[in-house]
Parts: sequence; structure tokens; C-alpha cells
Amino acid sequence: ILSFLSFKEKDTDIMAGVTFMEKTFLMVKPDGVQRELIGEIVSRFEKKGFQLIGAKLMNISNELASEHYGEHKERPFFGELVEFITSGPVFAMVWQGENVIATARQMMGSTNPADAAPGTIRGDFGVTVGKNIIHGSDSPESAKREIGLFFNDSELIEYSKLSNNWIY
Ligand code: ADP
Repeated sequence: ILSFLSFKEKDTDIMAGVTFMEKTFLMVKPDGVQRELIGEIVSRFEKKGFQLIGAKLMNISNELASEHYGEHKERPFFGELVEFITSGPVFAMVWQGENVIATARQMMGSTNPADAAPGTIRGDFGVTVGKNIIHGSDSPESAKREIGLFFNDSELIEYSKLSNNWIY
């Protein structure tokens, strides 16, 4: 009974911790899916210690693409960007963890793979800025917006992960 109680206490700590944990939206772009990098990318975030709480393979409509990349509407590459992101299935994900928004951006590397450090996803697998493998939210505001664009509440799964005891 005592060990059960102490387990429950720890579990409660983890659950309490969830309230300060962030969520971010990450997406393997059509080039990453075609190049069979879904497993590699998921594996990096799993091994880091982040928790996957939602994922799906999907096609992006023109409407969703325009909404998602709305901030780039006036940029010369906007048309190309929408055409690319709708050109094949993407793997959309929501990951949770302490500081996951900024840390995932670091793990992705610079927007242009030519500038991305070795060891980052874009540094290891990408060559050109137009096909840079992965998208990740760049702030708490964009994470909230993008998670809402791509996922319903019922598609996000809250669960306690025992390895969190050894990560936090
Ligand atoms: P990030 O994806 O790193 O947040 P941005 O939000 O600045 O970068 O740009 C969104 C996406 O637009 C980039 O991931 C990239 O695929 C594409 N992009 C950015 N700059 C260019 C460019 N000069 N030419 C073509 N595509 C670009």
C-alpha cells in the first residue's frame, strides 16, 4: 500500500507538472514524408524526452495552407510554398514538454538548411530552403493557433508517461 501511495504521489506531481508544460505543433512536410523521414524525426523527439499527444498523416487543402502560412501572404515565395505544402501528405503532430516550443526549433535547425548546424534535422537532411523537411511553431501564440488549425480537442490525448519520472 505504501509503495502504491508513493507511486500515486509521484504520478500526481507529473500531472501537476503538465500545467507548466508547453505544447507545440510540428509537421513533417511532404518532402520529409516522401524521403521516409517520419520515423527518424519522431524518434528524435521521443529520445529527447518529449511526449507525443497527437499525430496524423493528412493532405492539406489550399484553404488550410493559406491560413497556416497567412503571415507569408505578401512574400514572393507564398505561391510556391502553398503549392509545395499541398503537393503530398504531411505528418502533423502535437508534442508536449518543458520548453518544447523553443527546444524543438533548435532541434529543427535554421530555416535554410544551408545554415542549419549538423545534428539538427534540417542540417542533417535538408539542402534547400523550399524543401526543408519540417515545420515547427515559433512561439506560444503560433503553437496555440496551429494546434487549433490542425487538431480537434478529441484528437489530443492526455496520458501520464512513466518515463517522465526520469526526465523531470
Ligand atoms: P520556419 O519554417 O523556419 O518558421 P519561416 O516561417 O520564415 O521559417 O518560413 C516558412 C517556410 O517558408 C520555410 O520553412 C520555408 O519552407 C519557406 N521559405 C522561407 N523562405 C523562403 C524562400 N526565400 N524561398 C522559398 N521558400 C521559403
